Amino acid sequence: MTPAVREAWARGRALLDDLRPTGDLVAGLAERLADTEGLPGPEDAFAWLSCVLGLVSANEGNYGVGAVVLRDGEIVAEGRNRLLQPRRDTSAHAESDALDTFEARFPDSDPGSGSGVGVGVGTTLYTSLECCPMCTVRLLNSGIRAVRYLAPDEDGGMLSRMAGLPPYWRRLAAGRTPRQTFEPAACHPVLGEIAADVFATTEAWLNERLVRS
Ligand SMILES: [Zn+2]
Repeated sequence: MTPAVREAWARGRALLDDLRPTGDLVAGLAERLADTEGLPGPEDAFAWLSCVLGLVSANEGNYGVGAVVLRDGEIVAEGRNRLLQPRRDTSAHAESDALDTFEARFPDSDPGSGSGVGVGVGTTLYTSLECCPMCTVRLLNSGIRAVRYLAPDEDGGMLSRMAGLPPYWRRLAAGRTPRQTFEPAACHPVLGEIAADVFATTEAWLNERLVRS
């Protein structure tokens, strides 16, 4: 087990220990995450931690999405959705939250030059949900080399329809060297199911709240 894998399990365990579920749905998802702790796949720990962070967001009254950034064999940033709580912050999607931390930590260097962990060279961002258009554009501007998502977002996700980007962004994406990849995480399928359920827990009622504000 690499230090980053060990750290991901420990960080997620600490978050679950601190979680005070506000409802039965969150409590049930916390149990499912506890049951999947320690899966052996090389990406499982980071995928799992993304789900745990998403559950923390859901429990706070935000969209249930979490993200983790790895660089040089080390977890260097994490993020979770904070769109509505403790205050409205429209930039605070999980991936964006993680990117803010990452960019503050590596302001000058080429952040994509790290060797990465488990998924080839470069810095990798894991997110529990397929990225939206806003986060996809931020990622295209970033030095993140690889983006790995757990649950597809058929209605809101951009990664499965990159051909629909405006021409400038399509050219930018096509011209990246080395190529930037946006792919499903190679994690245990149960983690993708949990990621989708963590998001679904919050999606309907928060959407209702957004469109009426
Ligand atoms: Zn987003």
